[in-house]
Amino acid sequence: MSAAELAFVNGSVYTVDAARTRASAVAVEDGRIVAVGSDDDVRDRIDGTTEVLDLRGRMLVPGFQDAHVHPVSGGVDRLQCDLHDLHSADGYVEAVRSYAEAHPEREWILGGGWSMDVFPGGTPSKDLLDAIVPDRIVILPNRDGHSAWVNSRALEMAGVTAATLDKADGRIERDPDGEPSGTLHEGAANLVGDLAPVPTPADVDEGLLEGQRYLHSLGITAWQDAIVTTGTSMDNYSAYLRAGESGDLTARVVGALWWDRDRGAEQVDELVALREGGRAGRFAATSVKIMQDGVCETFTAAVLEPYLDADGNITDERGISFVDPEALKGFVTALDGLGFQVHFHALAERAVRESLDAIEAALRANGPNDHRHHLAHLQIVHPDDVPRFRQLRAVANAQPLWAAHEGQMDDLTIPFLGEPRWRWQYPFASLVRSGAGLAMGSDWSVSSPDPLEEIHVAVNRVAPPTYLYGNGNSEVFLPDERIDLATSIAAFTMGSAYVNHLDDVTGSIEVGKFADLAVVDRDLFAHPVDEIANAQVDATFVEGVPVYRRVGAD
Ligand SMILES: [Zn+2]
Repeated sequence: MSAAELAFVNGSVYTVDAARTRASAVAVEDGRIVAVGSDDDVRDRIDGTTEVLDLRGRMLVPGFQDAHVHPVSGGVDRLQCDLHDLHSADGYVEAVRSYAEAHPEREWILGGGWSMDVFPGGTPSKDLLDAIVPDRIVILPNRDGHSAWVNSRALEMAGVTAATLDKADGRIERDPDGEPSGTLHEGAANLVGDLAPVPTPADVDEGLLEGQRYLHSLGITAWQDAIVTTGTSMDNYSAYLRAGESGDLTARVVGALWWDRDRGAEQVDELVALREGGRAGRFAATSVKIMQDGVCETFTAAVLEPYLDADGNITDERGISFVDPEALKGFVTALDGLGFQVHFHALAERAVRESLDAIEAALRANGPNDHRHHLAHLQIVHPDDVPRFRQLRAVANAQPLWAAHEGQMDDLTIPFLGEPRWRWQYPFASLVRSGAGLAMGSDWSVSSPDPLEEIHVAVNRVAPPTYLYGNGNSEVFLPDERIDLATSIAAFTMGSAYVNHLDDVTGSIEVGKFADLAVVDRDLFAHPVDEIANAQVDATFVEGVPVYRRVGAD
């Protein structure tokens, strides 16, 4: 028996195998796991050449996998005027001011990541920006990327005035006199955004590596990039290919190629070509992302019954189906027939139903297959549609961090959904009970990509104390929909690995799989569940090679 290059001993190894086996030691050879068991079981694999990592009771888990994330734009943001880590209007203004001062050469102030609940009605005013940057163009998307905060210079440059009509796919916020007030939603934001200078390929490369560095620091070893495009301002497709070829891409990445909703079936051939050319190193572009609706806070998420207004009266707003539901069935059937996985953005109950209907149409036309289509976000699922996930073998791709009472939920969502619909939000336990496959992801840079924070909320349905957007409301959010720690960890490892078609080589700690692993600083099962978010990752490995070590941890 040859010696292991790396061995973990004296730990609490949570394997996430089918039997949820526990162990204390793991040995790694040539990047693969060769032994899992007690310290005695791996002792004869260890000699003077083996690097032995004493876990001292800490937890070893399979590397986390994020099933819906935007690491390249998130990384680019981190290198621009980044507002994600702040949570007040004053804080944002100060950050923009100091960024503008530090970069006098930049004609455009780009970046973003502000939170809607900081501003009255969720819509910041151009005046705040005009006061600090009157002479240069400012455009800052919010943290979910569905709205943008702009200054007067930006509106002027794009020719957006009181006379500009709202677009079919987006709205211009206005003062009472009709003058644009400084917030643009969805397609309306593109009036300015489309004119912004595009990041250079070097910027995008740098953003990818910054995003990867950050995700590795949180124990993440693989992900599905939820928007991969080329020939656009954020050509992350090419960046992934470059990083895959050079070896800079240490994470395993499935790319979801962007479905252009302004076009139809004629783009399918292009997607096939992108998939063919879209493999390098640990990267493969094998999924297609279809964004079927928007978000609740701007009434662009597609609902079955109309939204309410602030006084509880029924409005005529039912949100937007970005793709006509009948056309969607045809597109999904075509993609499915060509072997693509479809990754839906399906946030509210009508979009969820339309997406499931499309999968059902594909199944009927093409028969069963193993493409593992999945629906991300699932903020509102009509109870009738919950069992359809298992029936259609559609995976529920959950972003659990949002399933808590916080400002955006309490002030901008619940009142506008009304009874009983607000209770259909994030029905994770119902989905699990119905037999649905569950994967998890963050949607970073919309919100924190820290799996431990996300698992904390999945288990507790309360925002962790560390959570930036918590508003102090510690009431459990729909307690029946809590899921347990084991189920949550499984969703973030095997569940997401399944979506990524990586479950045969990663997602659990089993002999023969890649040694993609994370060391958590404590055994989560040995601590109260309301302390999960206090844990942190000490080290992350891909194929046994460290890609992150926390300073001060060994
Ligand atoms: Zn997303």
